[in-house]
Amino acid sequence: MTYTCLHTHTDFCDGKDDVESMCGAAFEKGLASIGFSSHAPVDHAVGKTSWHLPQKRLDEYLDTVRSAKQRWAGKIDVYLGLEVDYIKGRMGPADRVYREIGLDYVIGAVHYIFPPDNGEPSIVDAPAGEFGRKLLGRFGGDGEALAAAYWEAETEMIRSGGFDILGHLDLIKKNNSGDKWFSTAAPAYLEKSAALVPLIVEAGCVAEVNTGGMNRGILGEPYPSPRLLSLLCRAGVPAIITADAHKTAHLGGHYGEAKEALLKAGYSRAAVFKGRRSGEPCWESEEIR
Ligand SMILES: [Zn+2]
Ligand SMILES: [Zn+2]
Repeated sequence: MTYTCLHTHTDFCDGKDDVESMCGAAFEKGLASIGFSSHAPVDHAVGKTSWHLPQKRLDEYLDTVRSAKQRWAGKIDVYLGLEVDYIKGRMGPADRVYREIGLDYVIGAVHYIFPPDNGEPSIVDAPAGEFGRKLLGRFGGDGEALAAAYWEAETEMIRSGGFDILGHLDLIKKNNSGDKWFSTAAPAYLEKSAALVPLIVEAGCVAEVNTGGMNRGILGEPYPSPRLLSLLCRAGVPAIITADAHKTAHLGGHYGEAKEALLKAGYSRAAVFKGRRSGEPCWESEEIR
């Protein structure tokens, strides 16, 4: 099957390598395309962070990827995207700006949730220590409530739309190895995550099978979990494999396992991105082999 990576970070945000090195590595590894999905600027929503593209470098990012697209033409398809955070009441993939800057695609992602203390939003994929110490504390130590807040944010983002690819659907499990803080088999967790599936169908997006947690050595499976992936398959949601690459070594990482996960979930075909035409994302479908 055709392997690609539409979820790629560079040194414009929290990636290690630059656009050119990532294109070169993707080409060397035989990927048919590489799409860049820098963490979209959040300066206006939560202030500057160490891991988002700074607003003042947005144009430079767009120009750099566009020129790589030209330079690599005929060797590897290069696409221009952004991974856009949904932060309730502050920003989201549905914001008009992302339609206006000529992107090939948008990944919608939830990294921020609002604890019940009415304070600033917190990051769900923070380093493990910070997650346990700070974020959970803001939920009074109630892991189930934290997970519920995450699913609520996912629900809101999916309802508001504006993205082409649904990013790491169950990112909340990243810091929950061995069900340390909440049970991923609890009825509430299962119900809340399953309730997203019809909304995802309605959104008309593609779901990613994201090996980012495996590439960082944190998880033994991709996002989403086998159970969620089966539900997506049964509902007819198209899927792609992505590495959530933050350096050249991540490109194509654990794609064999991701492919197995797709097959086990019941998928026989995967989506392949072919760029944007007349304002619409163009997807083809290919047999998984
Ligand atoms: Zn992400
Ligand atoms: Zn990412």
